[in-house]
Amino acid sequence: MTLKKAISFIPPEYKEQEKWQLKIITDRCKGCLFCITFCPTEILESSPEINAKGYHPPILKEGETMDDCAKCGFCELICPEFSIFLEKDKKSSNVKID
Ligand code: SF4
Ligand code: SF4
Repeated sequence: MTLKKAISFIPPEYKEQEKWQLKIITDRCKGCLFCITFCPTEILESSPEINAKGYHPPILKEGETMDDCAKCGFCELICPEFSIFLEKDKKSSNVKID
């Protein structure tokens, strides 16, 4: 299955919502790089920081904002540790790091 085809399976309500927060629970991350490698908009990179497990969790690349995120939910779908996901946010569209 191509990445484009896989993204077409993302529920449409994800794309319809304007305000999403990308939540990253850094200490759950095991540094597999799936989210960074397969993000279609290439807005993620490894943090220089090390988490509690000794891995580099993802962060937004410098200069990128949630406006650059496609809200496709693909990072959430492929993260084996449930450490990155989209959350609805009534007030703003941003990235929350825990
Ligand atoms: S939801 Fe955003 S950060 Fe996650 S894969 Fe899609 S474009 Fe990338
Ligand atoms: S997919 Fe999940 S575990 Fe892998 S680097 Fe991204 S946040 Fe970490």
